[in-house]
Amino acid sequence: MLVGVPRELKNHEYRVAITPAGVVELVRRGHQVLVEAGAGDGSAIPDAEFRAGGARIVAQADDLWGEAELVLKVKEPVPDEFHRMRPGQTLFTYLHLAANADCTRAIVAAGIDAVAYETVQLPDGSLPLLAPMSEVAGRMSVQVGAHCLERNQGGRGVLLGGVPGTPAGKVVVIGAGVAGMNAAAIALGMQAEVIVLDTNVNRLRQIDFTYRGHLQTVASNAYEVEKACRWADLVIGAVLVPGAKAPTLVDNHLVSTMRTGSVLVDIAIDQGGCFADSRPTTHDDPTLRVHDSLFYCVANMPGAVPHTSTWALTNVTLPYVTALADKGFRQAVGDDPALAKGVNAVRGTVVQAEVAKAHGLPH
Ligand code: NAD
Repeated sequence: MLVGVPRELKNHEYRVAITPAGVVELVRRGHQVLVEAGAGDGSAIPDAEFRAGGARIVAQADDLWGEAELVLKVKEPVPDEFHRMRPGQTLFTYLHLAANADCTRAIVAAGIDAVAYETVQLPDGSLPLLAPMSEVAGRMSVQVGAHCLERNQGGRGVLLGGVPGTPAGKVVVIGAGVAGMNAAAIALGMQAEVIVLDTNVNRLRQIDFTYRGHLQTVASNAYEVEKACRWADLVIGAVLVPGAKAPTLVDNHLVSTMRTGSVLVDIAIDQGGCFADSRPTTHDDPTLRVHDSLFYCVANMPGAVPHTSTWALTNVTLPYVTALADKGFRQAVGDDPALAKGVNAVRGTVVQAEVAKAHGLPH
């Protein structure tokens, strides 16, 4: 099959949908891979590495889309790409179509098969193509939190690990899922004191068993969240209620009672945020001040580390990519219920009820 990987056009998107490892794997299986010139630049993967893996570098995106039977992307097509989609082509990428009427209409008009990373779902309900981005955001949250705690950033002036003879920094992680436990692991690695809160006590049992006293687990409720926040130098919000806006767990009054110069990182900002005063911020201007605390609320944290994010994402997409290339769209989704959940459109007909409902389309 002819697999095409264009350069991402969305503003500030530096990831790319394949690595040289993916190229080698596809070529080894007898497929041809076309990569647009410069597609890997933002992730520090030069054309030469793709070429060495067996890819053909294509100068013009129009030519690539014109030839490719399977197009791999990171983000949904932007308007400049709409005219490039062709009937019968398969597109595999993050789509988030329920929130994007223009892109949905373009996919319908083009008559393509569209598979969305974010709706690929394993039988246990987990979302394997979202997990790596939660891992990245979770690990980054402690790194950015530690930086914000520096005095010249407006923070309390606390070194998370302390030094011999001084107390370590105090880190509270609310939500012990993928992002939260990656945050906790990094905070422990920096030798901070760590408390993890979750409403799911079974989850806390597993964590307690794994960490054996190196961190404290606490059942999450308003009383415990308040107590933990007053104790903390750094609070990381990493909760998720599937399909719902994030619950508000820290209100303005509680922030007013927290330690001067404390830092709150709201990873859940992409779901509305779990602190009442959170507002989406950008990598260019990532923080806002609330009372005497500093909030960090960047909605696309993995965008700051595109090299790592590209490798993390493509590690998990590649098995699905090889299935689509080896078997073709129909058989690949027929054979794998997880991939079938990712299908958003078949030959231009929207098949996800939520997307169809959001845009008044039949399905
Ligand atoms: P997850 O489902 O793995 O974990 C969420 C956890 O929150 C679960 O353990 C759940 O029990 C817990 N929870 C729910 N309500 C709670 C409450 N009231 N108190 C305490 N815990 C509660 O989810 P995840 O993959 O770790 O994602 C966490 C959040 O990070 C999501 O909102 C996700 O969209 C977001 N995220 C943000 C970025 C970013 O760049 N900002 C990147 C990736 C993911």
